[in-house]
Amino acid sequence: MKKRLFSGIQPSGEVHIGNYLGAIKNWVGMIDRYDCIFCIVDYHAITVEYDPKEMQNRIINAAAVNIAAGLDPNKCILFVQSHVPEHTELAWILNTVTPMGHLERMTQFKDKAKQHRDNINAGLFTYPVLQAADILVYKAEAVPIGEDQVQHIELAREIARKFNSRYGEIFPDPKEILSDAPRIMGIDGKTKMSKSRDNYISLVESSESIWKKLSTAVTDENRKRRTDPGNPEICNLFTLHKHYSSIEQIERINRECRTAEIGCVECKKILYENIIKALSPIREKYEELIKDKHSIIDILHEGAKKCKNMAEITMAEVRRQMGLT
Ligand code: SF4
Repeated sequence: MKKRLFSGIQPSGEVHIGNYLGAIKNWVGMIDRYDCIFCIVDYHAITVEYDPKEMQNRIINAAAVNIAAGLDPNKCILFVQSHVPEHTELAWILNTVTPMGHLERMTQFKDKAKQHRDNINAGLFTYPVLQAADILVYKAEAVPIGEDQVQHIELAREIARKFNSRYGEIFPDPKEILSDAPRIMGIDGKTKMSKSRDNYISLVESSESIWKKLSTAVTDENRKRRTDPGNPEICNLFTLHKHYSSIEQIERINRECRTAEIGCVECKKILYENIIKALSPIREKYEELIKDKHSIIDILHEGAKKCKNMAEITMAEVRRQMGLT
């Protein structure tokens, strides 16, 4: 029997190549090996300020882009967190076995509290408990994540063990599957690619807009003139070449950048062509899907139905062992 895998998708409105290379590409590779559940985590998204009028669009968009990028709903479950209320029911129960001190240690909470000083709410604080509930309500054993989420999965394991030792074995130990994709930096070359920093290339962006961004993207800043030799190791665009270009092209750029035989404009053009080649099928599929929002909504409802069946079984077991029924 395949192991169950769970992963959350932020309804962030824009999915960029950093998200794809760091997460979605790995998920697509695991879809046949695991029993995969992908959840659009709207209850997590509301822990920071947002525009309610935009939320449904963000959810549908996140679903459409992820399907277009390879999360085939015939091979995995895709659904919205708030459509399965058992997540929040279990989160409340898990709150009662989670020590406050453990939550206070979470670095992501500290970072987010700094970013959202005017809105440090209890939901932001107990976010990792809801994340534990998301995973445990399906008894998922595999959780693909990036480095920044390791602490949360360690906590989810600890919460599962605490619950099991107090009320009896119900939950398996969830284990992280760490993404081996390097951190994809933004086109400013300074910070991680992200929507909030506006330094990203979207998975469904037009060719013109991609070239506009690439043509002004920061390269090796020591390479001031065309005749200056560069260092690909400190150039973010070279990292992107490693994902999008052929071995011959990567070897050539690695060699010719160091001797100034190739200029940054030519190098960017090669990258541009390769990125367009890779993203065009995703963009075309996305445009096709987004024309028919109702079928995306149907896919999400179908996913929620399957998840609800599984979550109800777990919750019946939880309530029984806790003496609540
Ligand atoms: Fe970066 Fe390419 Fe310019 Fe070298 S030639 S600095 S790898 S953009």
